[in-house]
Amino acid sequence: MEERYDLAIIGTGPAGLSAALNAKIRNKRFIIFGSIQLSGKIEKAHLIGNYLGFPKIQGKELQTEFQKHLRQMEIEIAEKKVTNIYPMDGYFSLLANNEIYEAKSIILATGIQIGKGFPGEEAYLGKGVSYCVTCDGNFYRDKIVAVVAYSSQEEKEAEYLADMAAKVYYIPMYKEELHLSDKIEVIRDRPVEIAGGEVVNKLILKDRVLDTDGVFILRDTISPGTLIPGIETEENHIKVDRTMKTNIPGCYAAGDVTGKPYQYIKAAGEGNVAALSAVNYVETVK
Ligand SMILES: Cc1cc2nc3c(=O)[nH]c(=O)nc-3n(C[C@H](O)[C@H](O)[C@H](O)COP(=O)(O)OP(=O)(O)OC[C@H]3O[C@@H](n4cnc5c(N)ncnc54)[C@H](O)[C@@H]3O)c2cc1C
Repeated sequence: MEERYDLAIIGTGPAGLSAALNAKIRNKRFIIFGSIQLSGKIEKAHLIGNYLGFPKIQGKELQTEFQKHLRQMEIEIAEKKVTNIYPMDGYFSLLANNEIYEAKSIILATGIQIGKGFPGEEAYLGKGVSYCVTCDGNFYRDKIVAVVAYSSQEEKEAEYLADMAAKVYYIPMYKEELHLSDKIEVIRDRPVEIAGGEVVNKLILKDRVLDTDGVFILRDTISPGTLIPGIETEENHIKVDRTMKTNIPGCYAAGDVTGKPYQYIKAAGEGNVAALSAVNYVETVK
């Protein structure tokens, strides 16, 4: 395991990147988890007219500018998904792609999931519905599983499952070309409902029904309450004060995850405040 970080930032949208930039300037030992592509919400924006200094910039151009800034500041992204965070005595333990990391403070900059979950998703959570292959994959040894995946980064998770499960169905919710081995059956269809008795036994799609023992739903964003137990939320947003402090000491949040307006510049501004607050926290508690 790596030495304990001062700060772990979860998310590579404008909020997380701005937090990383300020942590770097303040000379803190930090790690930022997310994607080297940064955020789909930057990349996919057509034309942005309200980001200061960049009139009428396309999302892809803004993504390139952000990546350039990271390179100039020598900030590297740990391309991993954080699936669980546990508040410990004076620090946090984070599980990301099968590895444990420790940090004295954290910033949640995970963005928000748009739209509701599938019918049955909440009811069967922990009874066949899972958001984390690393955490729960082992329960499906020699069983049938369905993976509903929202980005190509989840393909390696499906491959990992395919090495132990009897059968893996892969339902991609994205359009890019797939790179999967033939151990996995790809189904281009839309999930409608997760059903079963005591535990999951079916994934109902628009055009067919799959008999399955488990459904992995792999979205970019995990709800805050699932990611870190005990975090206080209001209408699915993390409650923060003006310093971006949450109800958990050492835990800060920034960006869409804290509430509206959902805007780049608000996210970047909150990332800045959260980083400075976390730096202050780390300096006062050491
Ligand atoms: C199509 C589109 C167009 C838009 N146009 C505009 C516009 O013109 N102007 C404007 O101001 N706003 C616009 N927005 C809104 C803007 O995109 C968001 O407000 C902004 O991206 C929020 O930034 P964020 O950093 O909070 O989260 P996000 O940009 O959502 O980034 C969060 C990142 O964290 C990563 N992540 C989440 N959970 C984890 C985890 N557990 N482990 C590791 N990484 C994780 C995600 O993969 C993602 O990369 C637009 C949004 C969309 C979808």
